[in-house]
Amino acid sequence: ILEVRHLSKSFGANVVLRDIDFTVSSGDVTTVIGPSGSGKSTLLRCVNLLETPTSGEIRFHGKDVAARGVSPTAYRSKVGMVFQSFNLFSNMSVLDNCTVGQRKVLKKDAEAARQNAMKYLEQVGMAPYINAKPRQLSGGQKQRVAIARALAMEPEVLLFDEPTSALDPEMVGEVLAVMRDLARAGMTMIVVTHEMAFARDVSNHVVFMADGVIAEEGPPAQLFQDPQNPRTQEFLSRFR
Ligand code: ATP
Ligand code: MG
Repeated sequence: ILEVRHLSKSFGANVVLRDIDFTVSSGDVTTVIGPSGSGKSTLLRCVNLLETPTSGEIRFHGKDVAARGVSPTAYRSKVGMVFQSFNLFSNMSVLDNCTVGQRKVLKKDAEAARQNAMKYLEQVGMAPYINAKPRQLSGGQKQRVAIARALAMEPEVLLFDEPTSALDPEMVGEVLAVMRDLARAGMTMIVVTHEMAFARDVSNHVVFMADGVIAEEGPPAQLFQDPQNPRTQEFLSRFR
């Protein structure tokens, strides 16, 4: 469904991603781990075309969406993103947060958008809060709304950038549980995370990044139990 080929990204003289290659098939849950500054967020932002790659291809169903002249709008609606800091619209209710994109981008009418939003708010357990404003919610609740908002766009791929890193510890579990259910239901996901248990138990592919390259990747059983690269070994030793 998604192929990243020879992706590089520089900010001025700072080369942040170097010749990244990976493939995501439908239903894959890929986790991306690695030290701070290794380029994980930049990689996700390039995949979503929030950043323009310096070189390389992002192929979605075989078509390079990073090529000049291709409008990113249609592609972006197929690839949702959930951020560490939620990025909800603070002046809008929970329900409006989940309908605005459907109405503006997908051109749905108000009633169809509302019904669809309710379906996903129920799925994440946030249906009782539709009239609340984000500031009235806990971090875990906000992140569940952000997930419902992304799902309401019916994306083919969902990207998560450290979705639990800004949460108080007691709220991490409720967000991971929602993500686990999505994975079980067959959602294609790329998840940047420091939650090693999630990477090990939920994902079927783990990518370890260091200094802007994929230093090692493989199925979780292999990467966690028998890492080959000394940098992977050193990184994982911090979590034991
Ligand atoms: P963390 O675990 O702390 O979130 P990360 O792996 O997500 O780290 P990135 O945020 O992708 O790392 O950053 C990688 C490098 O790219 C860093 O050196 C950062 O300073 C640089 N960088 C990221 N975004 C920009 C930008 N918009 N302009 C300039 N440099 C940037
Ligand atoms: Mg980051």
